Amino acid sequence: MSLQQRLTLLFVVIVMLPLSAAGFVLRDTVVGEIRRREESRLRPSLAETESVIAARQKAVFELISPVTLRLRRAQSGGGGSRLQSLLGRALAGTEELDFFIALDRSGEIVAEASTEPSFAPGFKAPGVAEIVAEAGAPGAIERRVAVGGRNSSVQRLIAGFWTDRDFLEEVSEGEIELALLSGDETLAATGAVPSLPSLQKGGSVHVRVRALPGDISAVAWYSAHKLSALSQSVLYYLLGLLAVALLVVALLSHWLSRLLTKSLKEVSQGAEAIAQGLLEHRIPIRTKDEVGRLAASFNELATRHGTTVAELSSSRDLLQRTVQRVGETLRSTHDMRSLLESILNTAADAVGADVGVIWGFSARRDELYPIVVRDARVDGLGRVSVGSGIVGLVAERGVTVVRDGSAEGPQPASSEPRFPVSIALPLYSQQRIHSVLTVYRREAQMPFEQADIDAVKFLADQGRVALENVILHEEAQRLSITDGLTGVWNRRFLQMQFRNMHATAMRFERPFSLLMLDLDHFKSVNDSCGHQRGDAVLIEFSQRVSDVVREVDVVARYGGEEFVCLLSETDLSGAIVTAEKILQEVRSESFGGSGEQPIDLTVSVGVAAFPQHGDSFRTLVAAADRGLYRAKQEGRDRIGLPEGPTGLKVAR
Ligand code: GH3
Ligand code: MG
Ligand code: MG
Repeated sequence: MSLQQRLTLLFVVIVMLPLSAAGFVLRDTVVGEIRRREESRLRPSLAETESVIAARQKAVFELISPVTLRLRRAQSGGGGSRLQSLLGRALAGTEELDFFIALDRSGEIVAEASTEPSFAPGFKAPGVAEIVAEAGAPGAIERRVAVGGRNSSVQRLIAGFWTDRDFLEEVSEGEIELALLSGDETLAATGAVPSLPSLQKGGSVHVRVRALPGDISAVAWYSAHKLSALSQSVLYYLLGLLAVALLVVALLSHWLSRLLTKSLKEVSQGAEAIAQGLLEHRIPIRTKDEVGRLAASFNELATRHGTTVAELSSSRDLLQRTVQRVGETLRSTHDMRSLLESILNTAADAVGADVGVIWGFSARRDELYPIVVRDARVDGLGRVSVGSGIVGLVAERGVTVVRDGSAEGPQPASSEPRFPVSIALPLYSQQRIHSVLTVYRREAQMPFEQADIDAVKFLADQGRVALENVILHEEAQRLSITDGLTGVWNRRFLQMQFRNMHATAMRFERPFSLLMLDLDHFKSVNDSCGHQRGDAVLIEFSQRVSDVVREVDVVARYGGEEFVCLLSETDLSGAIVTAEKILQEVRSESFGGSGEQPIDLTVSVGVAAFPQHGDSFRTLVAAADRGLYRAKQEGRDRIGLPEGPTGLKVAR
């Protein structure tokens, strides 16, 4: 049921209930009033009856004397038939009287004249009751007079009129019923005479009684059914009125409820429109009442909602752009450390983490150690075995572990941060776990939400591509500047480093030197032990040379079995010392691994120093090469200088 229908019903009920009650009260009042009025008409009706009877009685008095006189005269001159015709004429001359009865001494009828009915011969001593009984008429009022003397045949004359139903109907008017009673006996009545109890109660039948002369009483009343018919008709009338009122009220209520709900409907339709995403929709404000204010508030809500949605979508665009930028930044970073820092910082910022760590694998991949730490105020960070703690679990199984501040679930190892809220997940590269990313919050009451976990996972996913990029880049970088066989720098990197060293030396007038190394009779190693063995010797040789020189020096493979060492901050004498060390290193120990035939080798070294032997790569290499040539010439296993007396043969 809609609000409008409910309101309509409510209005109808509110109006119709009191209206109906008022209708029924009115009906009772009206019916009561009508009764009262009708009752008041009973008294005049009885008075009228009395006066009609009195008038008739008067007529009886007036007529009975002349008739008595005539009867006396007629007695002397004639028989019964003469008396009979006399009485007939007398009755014909009046309308008020209904009968004359002449009685003899014994009370028998001598002559009689009457309107219907008539008296039988031999009828005796009639009182009213007898007359009534004899005539079979419903009632009679009579007067009797003495007519003759002792010898006269007619002793008494009785005249009267019928008080029958016709008489009473002439007298009564309207709905009033009339009756004449003699004692308890009904003489005549227009309807069924009410019983005595109802007369006394006055209940539904309203009765008045009036005493008339000669033990007769007149009764007037309203019959119950006539009154109930009256109240019935009043009821129908009122019901009709109520029906009309109901119709009018229903129409008015419908109109009123429509008026009231119209604005509400507009508000609810507006709300639906906004709920369906039509944020431009506005509700018309028609009034300043509560509904108007509701509409205004709704419009304001819609405006704010629209603003919020616009802000959200713009922040979503911003987020998308940021994510894109993060992706680009991650992909454009070629340095592993700064890439990991970037991933860690972005993840920690994105989820509002207090602390973040990226854990890398040890060389044997059995332990993890912090590579990058955000927020250095974390004590006790250290190595964690794969499989233990949270970080170890993530590294072993590749799962994401989230701690939400409760004490349940996997516990951190002693060398992990012990914050109650954390996300730990693997960073992958080339199908295997590269490292483990962890972010932490210090407060147990602030667990990460699903959106935070998703954000960190998303970044880890972005990081995967970036990690692969960096690893590839580093690999390419390494390949382009190192020697594929021995792992020491190649000639290209040597030249780059030479430029750096040369520039520094020029600016600060510092020395540096260059050694050219060539293994003696290396061809025979290949010939006797095979090329592969020769390769292994070259690898070992480059390693042993790298161990002899300082960290800052550069060892590079120049070609074949020839190597170059760039010695920074080293003058000619220093270079000769280093060359001596290399010679000593090679000659001191055979080459070859376990189970192999050891190979004894020597090396010849050409030495050139900046600036005296040259000031460019080309000239210095050429000078060292000249020194090498001289060393070979002079018997190998020695140092050679570009020119001048050598004298540098080192005793074996
Ligand atoms: P010396 O220098 O004492 O005059 O004699 P040598 O036998 O070492 O002569 P040379 O330096 O001219 O020979 C270079 C030999 O080194 C030739 C080649 O068989 C060997 N060689 C060069 N490059 C490689 C390499 O990458 N692997 C192996 N196994 N051998 C190489
Ligand atoms: Mg050579
Ligand atoms: Mg050689």
